[in-house]
Amino acid sequence: MTISRASLALLGFLFLSVLLVGIGCKKKSEAMKAIESDANGYICSNCKSKFCTDRKVIPSQCPDCKNQNIQRVLSYKCEVDKQMTIEARNVPNVKCKQCAAPVNQIYMPQKVDLIAWGATFKTEAQVASP
Ligand SMILES: [Zn+2]
Ligand SMILES: [Zn+2]
Repeated sequence: MTISRASLALLGFLFLSVLLVGIGCKKKSEAMKAIESDANGYICSNCKSKFCTDRKVIPSQCPDCKNQNIQRVLSYKCEVDKQMTIEARNVPNVKCKQCAAPVNQIYMPQKVDLIAWGATFKTEAQVASP
């Protein structure tokens, strides 16, 4: 019968949806771990100055050139060689700095990663607009 077949399909669809939502939630909690960091890293789009601040601080301008065009940076992990590449959040198709493979795992860089990348730690007063 057509009706029962349709309702079976609907049931199957609902079951799949619930399953997918369940997987989605699990992924989210794993992702939450990846976004925890002790510092926020930024790069200035104007002078390319790299800096980081305490995670509670939201900078409003570049500490060097006072430009407000600053970009948050993220850490991208290469699946091939596990190399971490730090790049601005708005850069599309980030490639591994070591093997140039496309990277797709995104992490929040920690303060030590940001310092190693070349960022200078700035206080809230240094990145706040006057
Ligand atoms: Zn700048
Ligand atoms: Zn790589």
